[in-house]
Amino acid sequence: MKKHKGNKKAQLLTIIIFGIIAIFSAYFGKDIISTNVGTPTGVLEISYLDVGQGDAAYIRVNDFDILIDAGPKSDSDKLMKQLEEKNIDDFEIVIATHPHEDHIGGMTKVFEKYDVESFYMPKATNTTKTFENMMKAVSNEGLNANVIKEGTSFELGEGARIDVYSPIQESYDDLNDYSPIMKLTYGNKAFIFTGDAEKVVEEEVVKKYANELKADVIKFGHHGSSTSSTKEFIEAISPKYGIISCGVDNSYGHPHKETLKIIDEMGIEAYRTDKQGQITITSDGNNIEIKTQAI
Ligand SMILES: [Zn+2]
Repeated sequence: MKKHKGNKKAQLLTIIIFGIIAIFSAYFGKDIISTNVGTPTGVLEISYLDVGQGDAAYIRVNDFDILIDAGPKSDSDKLMKQLEEKNIDDFEIVIATHPHEDHIGGMTKVFEKYDVESFYMPKATNTTKTFENMMKAVSNEGLNANVIKEGTSFELGEGARIDVYSPIQESYDDLNDYSPIMKLTYGNKAFIFTGDAEKVVEEEVVKKYANELKADVIKFGHHGSSTSSTKEFIEAISPKYGIISCGVDNSYGHPHKETLKIIDEMGIEAYRTDKQGQITITSDGNNIEIKTQAI
């Protein structure tokens, strides 16, 4: 009888302890997933660079210079010229979204010219010379390739953070799907980056993170291809502005009419690197300003 009572006491204590832990993690957990990143004190700059049929985005925030992809080799001179105009001393973070040439072709030149402090890519490899050269450049820099995946985050100083929602699976059939879907938060504004992630990943991310995806700006997945940008994904983000990074008269027909239709239906203000060249966004955390380079 006494023993039984003791067990009950222990059980009650366990329930109380776990209850307290649950309340604490709910409270603090909420902080982690909300957009509460503190108050920005400076200006965020994001430049969606004009690299023809490819992707490259430069982010400057607080003391961080970040590059997401480096476009194809054919446009690497153009990439370097645009970067040079920004007076970058070094890159704190370089991310290669996935090992396709139109995203990593310019990487070796970036590593030749700039000091890079950290390098991230998904756990995916390619057998191409371009991929090999990039890995050589990373190792020559004295760096290891850090894995970027669901749950990775980058604290970027006061008011700024990047959260990474995918890749979620260990492996995908298509290299495009290893591209991380990420959200850069700056104060009250948010920006979604997608690489070339396609519908299968968009669906996974919506399923798990629908409530976290709301953002002001999206870079449409896979150069505006119809294989990305499902209605559910774009609706979860509900962006005011959209960026399409693609080449003039590209052979893929990017952006596809299905994507343009979604842009139209949802009233998104869209910008295209093939038509407007480099697209630069600045934000103080409450307002967004967009400038395009006239071609
Ligand atoms: Zn691509």
